[in-house]
Amino acid sequence: MAPGSSSVFLTDLFRTAAFRLTLMALAAMAGVMVMQFGLVYTQMEAVESHRSTTLLRGEAELLARMTPEHLEYVIRKRATDDMRLVISSAGLFDASHALITGDLRVWPRGLKADGKPHNIEIYPEEGAPYPLRLLAVTLSDGNILVLGRSFHLLAEQKLMLRHATFLAAVPTLLFALLLGMVLSHRALSRVKDMHEAIDLIMAGDIHERLPAGKERDDLERLAGSVNRMLDRLESLMDGMREVGNDIAHDLRTPLSRVRAKLERALSTGSAGDALEGAVARAVDELDQCLGIITALLRIAEIESSRRRAGFGTVNLVELIADVVDLYEPIAETEGIHLLTQAGLAPVNIDGDRHLLIELLVNLVDNAIKFTPEGGHVTVAVTRQGGKASLSVTDTGIGIVPEERQAVLSRFYRSDKSRHVPGSGLGLSLVSAIAQLHDATVLVGEGKNGLGTCFRVTFS
Ligand code: ATP
Ligand code: MG
Repeated sequence: MAPGSSSVFLTDLFRTAAFRLTLMALAAMAGVMVMQFGLVYTQMEAVESHRSTTLLRGEAELLARMTPEHLEYVIRKRATDDMRLVISSAGLFDASHALITGDLRVWPRGLKADGKPHNIEIYPEEGAPYPLRLLAVTLSDGNILVLGRSFHLLAEQKLMLRHATFLAAVPTLLFALLLGMVLSHRALSRVKDMHEAIDLIMAGDIHERLPAGKERDDLERLAGSVNRMLDRLESLMDGMREVGNDIAHDLRTPLSRVRAKLERALSTGSAGDALEGAVARAVDELDQCLGIITALLRIAEIESSRRRAGFGTVNLVELIADVVDLYEPIAETEGIHLLTQAGLAPVNIDGDRHLLIELLVNLVDNAIKFTPEGGHVTVAVTRQGGKASLSVTDTGIGIVPEERQAVLSRFYRSDKSRHVPGSGLGLSLVSAIAQLHDATVLVGEGKNGLGTCFRVTFS
């Protein structure tokens, strides 16, 4: 361990919530123990004080009833008596406090012969002074009987209590402190792992994730939430990057083509109509480029926004009627029968009306574009098992099963349809809008295995 690292460890440890909680719990535990100890201590003192008063009083009463000669004898012989167990010192004094007999050599300083117990310090001729609980009563012959009880029993009990409390408290507090340190150390190392992961992410490694384990506790659940947020951010960033790449990539070819054509027109020195034709074609191609940029930005906007601000109740039956009205003239020009199939009852869903029109327009536009003259395009709305679905079925050139998933991706165009103008972004827009509505897009074949059927099912 490097010098100073242990103090850093301790500082870090102290800064963890778990360790601070442990310290607080420890302080509370210590407080309770001190309180308990104080309570038992004072209780013990009170019980012993009451007991010694009763004993002293009882003994004094017994002795006071004896004849003076007998009393003197008893006090003198007390050393060999049972009384020794209860009374540790005794003295018989005359009215002027001069000793008659007993082991109390002098009248204890400050003692009053009032029959009440007094705690008084005794100064023996040899040795250290010691406290006694003394009681003095005046006898009928004028002499004073002094009885004393030592505190050594109480002192012993107190010592035992102190030892017992210390023996119980020290290991308990130490164990709790150790446990707190271990738990805090664990928390600290987990947080340290997370800090390291965050540092990596900030350094640019956006694939890095926080250690979330199985999300069993609050810290892991928080890490899990942060990870999910990072996933979302990463996919948004990927989407943005993809859009940038797509735009750059897809515009290169048409732009180079326009440039080459214009250059050729200039260098051949073509004049008049030829130059005009070249410029007109260039404008068309540039329009297509602008269309691609608009479509890509629109898809990116829909994919990343997740905005549900424009959401409301949309009646799909009304929606298909509007789109069919819009496309009727175009279908007619192309020689295609455009039909609707829906019940009278409204089929309502929660969605963005403008986006849903965009979705349907793209599907109907494709159906008309990829269906030869004389074909049929049917737009239908159904509700099955509580789920609303929209379908556009045609009798056109169809999509082979292997390509049915691929057509939904960006720029994918089937070989069969290369001669038809388009950039391959319409269905990407459809799938982005469907995703925003939590809807699924299914590509299948039309009636009797002819043509194509696109079905969008809302959940
Ligand atoms: P854009 O819609 O961007 O103008 P596009 O129509 O070619 O161009 P998409 O709408 O994404 O692009 O469709 C992708 C491809 O899927 C089409 O090029 C075509 O090959 C195939 N496709 C889509 N709809 C149909 C359909 N109804 N019948 C047959 N093929 C289809
Ligand atoms: Mg299209």
